[in-house]
Amino acid sequence: GTLPGVPKGGSAQKDIPRMIWRMLYLTLAVTAALMLTMLIWLTYLLRPVRELHKGLRAVFDGNLEYRVPIYSQDELGRLTRAFNATTARLRAAFQRIEELATHDSLTNLPNRRIFDERLIIEAVRSRRYGRSFGLIILDLDKFKNINDQYGHAAGDEVLRAVAKVLEANARETDLPARIGGDEFAVILPEVQAREIQMIAENLRLTVEKITILPNHGLPADTHITISVGVACSTGNFATPKRLIADADAALYQAKSHGRNCVQMGYSCE
Ligand code: GH3
Ligand code: MG
Repeated sequence: GTLPGVPKGGSAQKDIPRMIWRMLYLTLAVTAALMLTMLIWLTYLLRPVRELHKGLRAVFDGNLEYRVPIYSQDELGRLTRAFNATTARLRAAFQRIEELATHDSLTNLPNRRIFDERLIIEAVRSRRYGRSFGLIILDLDKFKNINDQYGHAAGDEVLRAVAKVLEANARETDLPARIGGDEFAVILPEVQAREIQMIAENLRLTVEKITILPNHGLPADTHITISVGVACSTGNFATPKRLIADADAALYQAKSHGRNCVQMGYSCE
């Protein structure tokens, strides 16, 4: 017979494959745990790289406000900092270019391009929703005389003074602009003919009262006057071309009526 508790002959040999399997499982488990740890660690390590990539995509899509978070002070941290600084530089440069492309550098008023764009928008709105808006075009009277008598710098000073009046009198929704040498315009949304006439008359009076400080060779008693033409966006007149033609014709009339006056166009009748 067999003694109890004593393994049968050959049972130790049977345990060997079991032990091998056990060791195999253990090795597999340890390897898997190691790989998982490494994966987590790599994910953590690569986070700044992923963020930088996200930042690059944002900048590529035109978002120059984007800032990449900085996680460390190592090489990647320094790279991220440099990336953010470059983006900030680019943003400032773009802002400057946009400012130069849309504003007149002498008076800082919006330029002809912005004026044309806004006029198209207002004309479309006017035709579609029946809203009324006004267009004022004004030109300095005998401005050449100022340049001739006191020099170009004095003339520039006068242009700046007129621009200031336009800016100071504009409502938030108005668009004053410099559209030529001594020619300015104002687009006034949501106003009727009578109101535009009053605003135009007020501008004329304010310019007439400008007191120029003796500066840039201009004498203290220099008087500036403007002639003003007004157009109103009514019915068929609500196209940029017709409005400008009407305001220009009115301005021409104001000049031939002796200058320093406001003339309403046919569109305002
Ligand atoms: P009018 O009453 O008929 O308008 O007479 P005017 O002398 O004002 O004639 P016009 O409007 O044709 O003259 C505009 C002048 O503006 C001519 C040009 O030398 C001057 N001018 C244009 N741009 C500038 C500028 O940026 N600075 C200065 N100082 N003068 C300018
Ligand atoms: Mg003029």
